[in-house]
Amino acid sequence: LQPHQKELFGQPIGLYILFLTEMWERFSYYGMRALLVLYMTTQTTGDARGAGLAWTDQEALALYGWYTMLVYVMSIPGGMIADKLIGQKKAVLYGAVILCIGHAVLVLTDIWAFYTGLGLVILGVGLLKPNISTMVGGLYKAGDIRRDKGFSIFYIGINLGSLLATMIVGGVVAKWGWHAGFGLAGVVMVLGLINYIAGQKYLSQVGNFIPSTNDKNEVSYGQLYSELFSSPKQLMFAGVLLAASLFGWYAMGWGYGLLFLFLTAIASLLMMIYKDLDTQVYKDRFVVLLLSFIMVIIFWGAFEQAGGLINLYTDTKTDRVLFGWEIPTVMFQSLNAGFIILLATTVAGIWAKRKLKGREASSIFKMAAGIIIMGFGFLFMVFAAMEFEKSGTSSMIWLVLAYLFHTIGELCISPVALSFITKLAPVKYASLMMGVYFAATGLGNKVAGVIGESASEFGELNIFAGIVIFTVVIGVLFIIILKPLKRLTHGAEESERVLK
Ligand code: GLN
Repeated sequence: LQPHQKELFGQPIGLYILFLTEMWERFSYYGMRALLVLYMTTQTTGDARGAGLAWTDQEALALYGWYTMLVYVMSIPGGMIADKLIGQKKAVLYGAVILCIGHAVLVLTDIWAFYTGLGLVILGVGLLKPNISTMVGGLYKAGDIRRDKGFSIFYIGINLGSLLATMIVGGVVAKWGWHAGFGLAGVVMVLGLINYIAGQKYLSQVGNFIPSTNDKNEVSYGQLYSELFSSPKQLMFAGVLLAASLFGWYAMGWGYGLLFLFLTAIASLLMMIYKDLDTQVYKDRFVVLLLSFIMVIIFWGAFEQAGGLINLYTDTKTDRVLFGWEIPTVMFQSLNAGFIILLATTVAGIWAKRKLKGREASSIFKMAAGIIIMGFGFLFMVFAAMEFEKSGTSSMIWLVLAYLFHTIGELCISPVALSFITKLAPVKYASLMMGVYFAATGLGNKVAGVIGESASEFGELNIFAGIVIFTVVIGVLFIIILKPLKRLTHGAEESERVLK
């Protein structure tokens, strides 16, 4: 047996190499993310943590929103670079190296180092995250029944990294300071890199660069873009988006201008891909996929309050004392990952049971249910805010319940969406669509930042209540239009993979 074909617990050994690499990468990402707003908002207090940046909550959440958005938006160029230039395997390697350097730079205390480090992390995650996910898929041949389980194992790896990080990093910061916390993320990323390099023999068959064939049906992104100028209708569409970018630039600053410009480029590309698809079946499925991404943006827009607004809320408005010990704020970030590890198989089991009874739920239904359940979790944050307004503090039980519902919601939407993409996306654009999916989660992160920022104006109670209402309404709307949407998938969910 070739090394790459060897199995452990019924799965290719390569899966465990990718599992560990992603586990350490997520450790560094979530460890650092948990510290980020706390570091930015901390005044210079002189305790063991050392000086923070003493920014306002609003400033910190604004940067947090941009950062967490860019981290995922970079998955689009990350996916394209892998597809067209170097293959996924090298992209993951370079991404890991850039992440090690980025986290090392964050150990320095200067402000330039802070921005440079964040920039490097953005580039590193953009190269690593989408491509390591695609590599997991590459371990299995089409129709291999181990694939879904492989993805669940991989998702547990992600959350194991996050759990370890958020358990440990708070203590490290309390004892040795902020920059030791950032440094720990770097050390751990080095472990991820070593593990990835050492495991190469088990990955010999996946993620290799496949140079473009001279197939005349193969269309490059450049050709797709050049088509944009071929019809007045398309030109007008791009023109409108471009005008919106300029307006964004003028009204909201250069950051939004650039964001809209980027969205223009992506929207035009998606439009061209739609045109390029051969049959109405593929076109319809493509539309359903893009519509489902609306749910993805809204879901993460609410969910990602976790590292931002809820994190700050935990820090300043929650009674964190348990049996005389004050639980560090950062540790509350562990609840999500902990619940994932506990509940991942249960939630998957519930859907599987329905399937056995012949009442299989469609992915769109699961995703809509995920939004509603997560939104319902914000009800507990409403209770928390009400208690705070009455008594000046609030019980941590509300946070536990909120995270529990957020996690059940995440399990309904996140792994489901990944597999939905592989079912609906035309194969030749599969990795790009994976990139677009992560970018949608990135936009959700940005939305989360904007909502979080507005809490200083509207108050947490109103924000949390607004999220409950909005998310539940959106989830219900998608359930109402479920039937026509399902029709547009043309049975993609029933059949085994039949796409070309
Ligand atoms: N928590 C998951 C991860 O870190 C999902 C993140 C996302 O899709 N934006 O991979």
